[in-house]
Amino acid sequence: YSLDHFVIPDHYETALSSVLIPHGVIMDRVEKLAKLIVQEATGPLVVCCVLKGGHQFFADLVNYIKKNVTRGGNSVPLSLEFIKVKSYNNDVSGDVKLSLTDDECKDFEGKNLLIVEDIIDTGKTMVQLLAKLKKFSPESVKVASLLIKKTPLSNGYIPDYVGFAIPNAFVVGYALDYNEYFRDLDHICVISEHGKEKYAVKN
Ligand code: 5GP
Ligand code: MG
Ligand code: MG
Repeated sequence: YSLDHFVIPDHYETALSSVLIPHGVIMDRVEKLAKLIVQEATGPLVVCCVLKGGHQFFADLVNYIKKNVTRGGNSVPLSLEFIKVKSYNNDVSGDVKLSLTDDECKDFEGKNLLIVEDIIDTGKTMVQLLAKLKKFSPESVKVASLLIKKTPLSNGYIPDYVGFAIPNAFVVGYALDYNEYFRDLDHICVISEHGKEKYAVKN
């Protein structure tokens, strides 16, 4: 969509090339996913937010799950967990590092985990995160990702719940960043060449 039709913060106006998913459309989709998740839940859920990019999706999803329950949907207790994942892309092993200690992860034993992530690109991060979490014997692990990118570099991983499949472009907004910027933008947008320069890391 053309930027002209949307409310965009002045500081990002020239840094974007288009609006890919307007905020209202995101919210509608997140509400739908919340209903699905609650319908399919078999017991208490530990909802794990993958920081930082997953935080907005996580917050809205949890809110909609709460509303669904109060409106007579399937009633499931939630507990909330936050994980920061660091990928070592230059490492050949491509290992991911979790911010949670093994001791903290021990609490996952026997629990139903719902991992909430912003975007699946190659799928590497999620495959490694899942392998790590499964070592702590959770009862089940499901993944909700707001976005999945259509890329030839995909390892074939597909999450249990997906908001939108998007084209192979770098997107920002709704907590997705470029060098920590654009998290303060409601819509999911495609960054422009000018935006990449304007918000480049300067050494
Ligand atoms: P993967 O391991 O699936 O290749 O990469 C996943 C991570 O890369 C995501 O969780 C996200 O942090 C980052 N990422 C991949 N594509 C994009 C994108 O288009 N925009 C932003 N902001 N981050 C992305
Ligand atoms: Mg992420
Ligand atoms: Mg990032």
